[in-house]
Amino acid sequence: MKLHKASAAAAAALVLSLTATACGGDSSDDSGSGDSGGGKITIGIKFDQPGLGLKKPDGTYAGFDVDVATYVAKELGYDAKDIVWKESPSAERENLIANGDVKFVVASYSINDERKKKVDFAGPYFLAHQDLLVRTDDSSITKAEDLNSKKLCSVTGSTSAQNVKEELAPKADLQEFGGYSECLTGLENKAVDALTTDDSILAGYASQQEHQGKFKLAGLKLSDENYGIGLKKGDTELLTKINDALKKMESDGSWQKAVTANFGPSGYKNEPAPAIS
Ligand code: GLU
Repeated sequence: MKLHKASAAAAAALVLSLTATACGGDSSDDSGSGDSGGGKITIGIKFDQPGLGLKKPDGTYAGFDVDVATYVAKELGYDAKDIVWKESPSAERENLIANGDVKFVVASYSINDERKKKVDFAGPYFLAHQDLLVRTDDSSITKAEDLNSKKLCSVTGSTSAQNVKEELAPKADLQEFGGYSECLTGLENKAVDALTTDDSILAGYASQQEHQGKFKLAGLKLSDENYGIGLKKGDTELLTKINDALKKMESDGSWQKAVTANFGPSGYKNEPAPAIS
């Protein structure tokens, strides 16, 4: 088909504008900064933790970490629609940050010295405790040592798995998966006897419609898990900005609002807001 001069020019202009859109204006995407170009920001969260970070069937995201991330992004100048969510499994968080795949990670991410060698943490913005999820009719597990003769499920690269191996129950038969939700079927069909991670996460699973009445939390505070926002090591400017945003989130009541909205349905009794360093 032969194009008239005018329509050829229009077509060329269209191609140009499409190309510009596809490139997002600047190509900071390639620089590995977590700025996805076109005024977007990429943030790492969990996709399978109800109450904290959950990708819903309709493709939207919900949870306390999602609300914290959205608040912080807003303070950094990004609207909710400019956020690109990136799934960040426990074992991949440091790498996603170091590689610049995400600008920061808000994913039930405990601050500890080992991780601080690779990334910096803003916060803490939440305090949880490691606990156990067991079947409702199981009364054989009431303390951590009981796990030494049991099959236990947790996640690779988590403090939960590490604490079990190093101190809580070194003789437990521990199976490690990529995400906690993968442990739930095993717990239900008795392939494993318990799932261990933060009580904040376990409460979310226990209260899910499909799990109603099946599981209970042991109610043990096996560790202190201070959640931080992980970001690239040495980016002190971003660290300061995120800490300022977290302080504001608490002082203007948004922190409490997010806690109530996300943990209220599971009945999870949270600790007060921790002091931000
Ligand atoms: N907060 C713990 C951690 O950072 C357990 C939860 C998780 O794996 O995200 O390892």
